[in-house]
Amino acid sequence: MDRIAKFLAYEGRAILVCANTTKLVEEIRKLHDLTPTTTAVLGRFSTISGMIGFTEIKEKDDFLTIQINGQGPVGNLISIVRRDENVSKVKVSIDNPHVELPLKSNGKLDVGGAVGTNGFLNIINKNEITDSNYNGLVPLVSGEIAEDFTEYFAKSKQKPAVVALGVLVNKDGVKASGGYMIQLMPDATEEDILNIEKALEKAPTISKMIENNTSLEQIAKTVTGDENVLILAQELSLKYECDCTRERFERGLISLGKEELNKIIEQDGMADTVCHFCNKKYHFSKEDLEKLLKEIK
Ligand SMILES: [Zn+2]
Repeated sequence: MDRIAKFLAYEGRAILVCANTTKLVEEIRKLHDLTPTTTAVLGRFSTISGMIGFTEIKEKDDFLTIQINGQGPVGNLISIVRRDENVSKVKVSIDNPHVELPLKSNGKLDVGGAVGTNGFLNIINKNEITDSNYNGLVPLVSGEIAEDFTEYFAKSKQKPAVVALGVLVNKDGVKASGGYMIQLMPDATEEDILNIEKALEKAPTISKMIENNTSLEQIAKTVTGDENVLILAQELSLKYECDCTRERFERGLISLGKEELNKIIEQDGMADTVCHFCNKKYHFSKEDLEKLLKEIK
């Protein structure tokens, strides 16, 4: 099972969230029939979404929506994170799952080229019951995702952070995936910052550490340079789960309006809808659509 955990370093002057998302990302790869490039894109995106959801979702009915659109070949990316007891439930969608780009000159998958840089990163934290909303919108920096979220923390949250995300994928599937984010608290000292910088210089990449079965606690020690990190929040498991229902697609068809729905009935005589998060199909017959039509006032 994938794990995610929160740690305190330097007596609480830095907070660290660390995740192993190997199984989650392999499931996403299969579900969306991804290429190596889009596996890296959605792997990084789902990992940071899970980590932010872990820190920001406080109540049961809160959910987090993150959207990235950099006008690159993959199109729009959306993630939604919910929380249920000790499980973070993540789902993601991508417009063009089959995009594959040549490797960059450094041998890495071209995530930035696939995502693009001409657009925004948008984070919406919503509570369905109180209907309260938090909204953070920042321009993309590189489309490489980790850098874009580092910028989000600096600009939108006014909190300096280090974000690292890594996905190791070959033709057979995801070999390792994970990430960490370190946030400095206002009382972090110059020495703490220097220690963290030194630790990060020496640390292997996150995908290498996950591939080597390094525990989350050991990763936390390695990247902060603090041997006395404390686990702060109980570990949660991360899993892929879509909560789509037929009713939601009915509401979607109703929201098209009388005229549009009539057109579908006359032209197609039915409607097949597909959930972009789990690829589940919902079929609506002519009778189904006529019933929905009657619900429109
Ligand atoms: Zn679904």
